Amino acid sequence: MPELPEVETVRRGLVPRIRGRTVVRADIRDGRLTAPVDPREVGMELDGERFTEIGRRGKYLLFGLETGRTLVSHLRMTGWFHHRPPGGTDPPLTHVRAVFELDDGAALLYSDQRRFGTMRLLEPGELDAYLRLRAGPEPLSPEWTPARFRADLRGRRAPIKACLLHQGIVAGVGNIYADEALWDARVHPLRPGGDLSAAQARRLHAAVVAALERGIDSRGASIRDYRGVDGERGEMQERFAVYGRTGEPCPRCGTPIRKIRVAGRGTHLCPRCTRPPSG
Ligand SMILES: [Zn+2]
Repeated sequence: MPELPEVETVRRGLVPRIRGRTVVRADIRDGRLTAPVDPREVGMELDGERFTEIGRRGKYLLFGLETGRTLVSHLRMTGWFHHRPPGGTDPPLTHVRAVFELDDGAALLYSDQRRFGTMRLLEPGELDAYLRLRAGPEPLSPEWTPARFRADLRGRRAPIKACLLHQGIVAGVGNIYADEALWDARVHPLRPGGDLSAAQARRLHAAVVAALERGIDSRGASIRDYRGVDGERGEMQERFAVYGRTGEPCPRCGTPIRKIRVAGRGTHLCPRCTRPPSG
């Protein structure tokens, strides 16, 4: 599932390719993408629209439109945008759910094998309220401070790993970057969020930011299907300390990485670098 660094990589790939471009024809082929709104209705609204700024909040891609509206896209499990340059040929995509033909002869294709992705066309002024319900503080912005993180963890009995995946506590973190950050900060994933000391919360805050920045620098992690908009793979998977490395040596101490389940998610940790909570 794409997390913040993968979505940011898609955003950075889209900006130079579609900003300022007008949609000549929008063909949204899957009703699940726009439900409960009819995809043909959304397609007709997008015909003739021009892309302005392409933004991101957490894992949401925000396609700014000249009329002041915003097309909000969430890739969920397997959503992916591909840019076909003018005169270019389509990659061998088998699950294309939407095609946006652009005025420069290029096209923006959206594919989604598992069909959990969403697209919402919001009217001017609706975006803030939409995101307020869905995305907490943006981890790479100054609004997300160690103090705020600790305050949001106060009293929580859920494992810290689950707290990191909670989009209301911090937006955009998923399974990969949570495991990497917990390892880096030497915090056991099962420790109740509210039990972290001030020093641990500060370390973990810094580790989350560092893991996300490493992910963006590496143009995301290409596990399973994820690619950039030009089809290029990211390289973060080659820099994982613990994620997906069960049985391989911990980069810090050499102890084999162990995989456990936390909040229903496969979770990778070093049993020597992080101590489980007592009891
Ligand atoms: Zn270790």
